[in-house]
Amino acid sequence: MSEETLFTRIIKGEIPADIIYEDEHCFAIRDIAPKAPTHLLVIPRKPIPRLVDATAEDKAILGHLMLTVGEIARQAGVDEAFRVVINNGAGVGQTVFHLHLHILGNKKFSEDSLGF
Ligand code: AMP
Repeated sequence: MSEETLFTRIIKGEIPADIIYEDEHCFAIRDIAPKAPTHLLVIPRKPIPRLVDATAEDKAILGHLMLTVGEIARQAGVDEAFRVVINNGAGVGQTVFHLHLHILGNKKFSEDSLGF
């Protein structure tokens, strides 16, 4: 049985997905069940399970992810108003244990709530 994550299988081409961006450290796909008109996932190639599992060794990857979020938001035309969400742990709804940053845009968010 493969222990690869869903997202590793997507980037290997084993599971179909709409891959909108790719570089040597990360890639981005459209979320299959969007919670906003623009809902993208930015994912490191390295299968870090949760944000808390990242170590000092991952510092460059984490920085790269943040910069890439900005670039992808610009490309998607939502850079003036978007929200970034990382679910860390099943207790807040993490379902895929391979770190990913949700980019949510083209949606009116409450300014005094951090929810989806
Ligand atoms: P999380 O709940 O933070 O772990 O987010 C996982 C996200 O992955 C959810 O928003 C799902 O809709 C999304 N997802 C699950 N399977 C796929 C898939 N095959 N292609 C694209 N997105 C997916």
